[in-house]
Order: sequence, then C-alpha cells, then structure tokens
Amino acid sequence: MPSIRCRCGEILRYGEIPCREEWLLISDVDFDKLTGPINPESIYQTMTSFLKCPHCERLWVFWNGFATQPKEYAPYPVQFLNETTQHSLGEKSLTN
Ligand SMILES: [Zn+2]
Repeated sequence: MPSIRCRCGEILRYGEIPCREEWLLISDVDFDKLTGPINPESIYQTMTSFLKCPHCERLWVFWNGFATQPKEYAPYPVQFLNETTQHSLGEKSLTN
C-alpha cells in the first residue's frame, strides 16, 4: 500500500478506497466548466489529490499526480496570520 511519512512522523497510507487521509480539490475555473449530468469518475480525473495528516494537519498535495513527490503545506498559528494580515489588510483581521 503506498504511503508517505509526514514530517511529524505519522505514516499516511493512501491506497485504500475510499481513503480517510485523502482529500480532493478542484479549481474554481475547472469546476465552472462542469455542465449537465456529472460523471463522478470524470470529475475525479480533473481533481487534485492531497493527504491531510490527522496528527499535525499538514497537507501533502500531489499537484502532478501520485507518480511525483507531493508538495508540503504546513498550517501557521493563528497569531502569525493576524500579524501578516494586519500588514496587508490594515486594521482588518481574519479572526474578526
Ligand atoms: Zn503530520
């Protein structure tokens, strides 16, 4: 069964169907192209798979399919986001 080791040490297995750790995403542009009756299998082909670590919540996105290495995205603490968004949004904050 294919798997990756998350940076936190958790083993993420993604061979099961359905898979608890695998999520699917689609761009708004590609979603907007969908019309008429939807075939779930054809939608799946246009979606990008990512794994969400249940321990640290990192995301491992397979932008180019499972044959290539996934890209890692780690959550930042809310405090960091507040400091960052205050610079770019003036007085506004995402948590308000
Ligand atoms: Zn992890």
